[in-house]
Amino acid sequence: MSIDNLHAHADWHSKDAHEASLRFREVCSAVANQQARYEHDLSSPNGDEIAVDTAYFGSETASKLLVVVSGIHGLEALAGSAIQIGWVASGGPASLPEDLAVLMVHQINPWGCAWRRRFNEDNVDLNRNFLDFNRSVPSNSKYAGIHDTLKPETAMGTFGEASAQYLAGLVAERGIEDTIDLLMGGQHEYPDGFGFGGQEPSWSRRTFEHVLAPFRDQVEQVCYLELHSGLGPYGYGQIISLQHGDVLARTRDWFGQWVFNPRADRKPGEPGYREVAGHSTDGFSSLFAGAEVTPVTLEMGTYPPFESLALLLEEHILFQAGDAAPAGKLEAVRERLEEYHCPADLHWRDANWLRGYQVIKQAIDGLSSEPR
Ligand SMILES: [Zn+2]
Repeated sequence: MSIDNLHAHADWHSKDAHEASLRFREVCSAVANQQARYEHDLSSPNGDEIAVDTAYFGSETASKLLVVVSGIHGLEALAGSAIQIGWVASGGPASLPEDLAVLMVHQINPWGCAWRRRFNEDNVDLNRNFLDFNRSVPSNSKYAGIHDTLKPETAMGTFGEASAQYLAGLVAERGIEDTIDLLMGGQHEYPDGFGFGGQEPSWSRRTFEHVLAPFRDQVEQVCYLELHSGLGPYGYGQIISLQHGDVLARTRDWFGQWVFNPRADRKPGEPGYREVAGHSTDGFSSLFAGAEVTPVTLEMGTYPPFESLALLLEEHILFQAGDAAPAGKLEAVRERLEEYHCPADLHWRDANWLRGYQVIKQAIDGLSSEPR
């Protein structure tokens, strides 16, 4: 790779979810051992069919598996998709060790990807949906107190245009940590509310479990890499683990000592401590109970998180308002949200793609290394 053609990698970023899906299938078709497509019942705003696509690279009997997933938070899919497409197009599959396979899962939340929402077709945040719903679900009692303010014609303005001021007010009143817990901690009581984690396994979760089922008895070691964007410093790709003990130690051996862990690096009550119930990385670990599992997320940072959160709140209000909102307002917010999760800046896109490639390489090297 020459520094002169660095920006060539920006070509892996697609203009929308539909184009990303076409490109992913096309680039995989030449090199994947298996490809599959899981169609969703709903369609995109343009009426296009939407689906989860998978591609499997490497030996069909491999005992080591890396699973790479994009689009858990729909509108983050363009950033994650570019990493998946780029890895395949740049010869990643040809360099796999003999006993190691890669499974790419593209746009796991296809409705959210197509409609440029963080949430799925049922307003569910998939990162809060991997719970055992036969047991009682966790309660976010704090959220109940603000649910009625997250509607049109409230403190957030007629259609959410005052969301930034509203958010600043929450922070002034409760502090940053409490505000993040309040809005991002997930809740399971209000299906039309913000940060809803669902009351049953979502279509995407069921599809994901179906895709993974054939590998559960086959693999001995599995690494799970979930691609996200929109949190952290601009252009910086942070690996996050929610695991403890030996799994966390192994994660740091593979991905570096700067892996951040909001459960293990902080104590309850300290700034930055987070306990998120129903996270997909925990759900993944429980699916592969008999294997050595190393689950991580990659967060590619963009703009200040509270600006992004204010936009998500505004979009939440406009989405609820539906046709009552002025024409074009929701579309304008979606465009800004897209910029906040996959900036057009080619330097950011280089950082995104190159960091993603590096992390996939780290995962492959880690799976190939001797157990500690
Ligand atoms: Zn995300």
